[in-house]
Amino acid sequence: MIYLGVAGWPVAHSRSPAMHNAALAAVGLDGWRYVRLPLPPARFAETVRALPEAGFRGINVTIPHKEAAVAVADAVSHTAAAVGAANTITFEPDGTVHADNTDVIGLLASLPRDPAGTTALVLGAGGAARAAVYALRSAGAAEVLVWNRTRERAERLVAALGGRVVDAVPQVELVVNCTSVGLHDADLPFKSLPLPADTVGVGSCVVDMVYRPGGTRLLAAAKQRGATVVDGLEILVAQGAASFARWTDRTAPLEVMRRAVADVATR
Ligand code: NAP
Repeated sequence: MIYLGVAGWPVAHSRSPAMHNAALAAVGLDGWRYVRLPLPPARFAETVRALPEAGFRGINVTIPHKEAAVAVADAVSHTAAAVGAANTITFEPDGTVHADNTDVIGLLASLPRDPAGTTALVLGAGGAARAAVYALRSAGAAEVLVWNRTRERAERLVAALGGRVVDAVPQVELVVNCTSVGLHDADLPFKSLPLPADTVGVGSCVVDMVYRPGGTRLLAAAKQRGATVVDGLEILVAQGAASFARWTDRTAPLEVMRRAVADVATR
């Protein structure tokens, strides 16, 4: 048996096992399994180092381990080094632990149009926001504005990765919500985000990294105003597809993965 997995703390909620196991079955990799790895931060590095001996080919890494994943690696991709966080670890045949960040390519692959030349607004300044700012700047966005509840954190992000901190937002073509607003409680008003009604509408695109059963209220409101919307599940699938290809050398079956995460989402 060859193992893949997702390490997080907590990780019980993760949809990655359903998504990857469906993908493995679809491409005929019957001897592979993708499992949950609940790992407290204090045990992260030593456990990751022990995984290849236990039959692991690679793991995804989620909150709170994305920065530790860079630190534990012997080799770090240019993207993961620039973002300062990794979501994909690969155990190479020569024993090297390699860290990459497929959240960046996942976001770019999910956008309905090329962000080159556009003005984009990133809400948040955590790990997802770092990946989004890096992705949009490297894809040639004309300007990346960053708003965060805690301004100093946005200032640190911009100092490291570029962009411009804003306190209020002008009309923009692309909004990427990288805060966790909307995650835990459907009734939590996204109005705690600085998005006046005229900020998005026809011609603009709103991406919500957050996903939840039935979709988020932010996306429902944006859609109602005529904006194009991208659900966090699509980004989950796209980043997972890039990790899957890295570990298995197979093209990821995107439709199978979409169906698997949607199925979990509705349960
Ligand atoms: P994080 O590092 O913990 O950052 C959380 C962000 O949310 C911070 O900017 C925080 O602002 C902000 N925030 C939290 N509560 C808020 C509130 N009530 N009002 C305004 N801002 C608030 O988390 P992360 O790793 O960046 O992830 C952010 C979200 O993206 C999570 O929901 C995660 O599940 C999702 N995500 C999805 C994917 C995907 O594949 N779809 C991938 C990665 C992450 P402060 O700095 O002020 O605390």
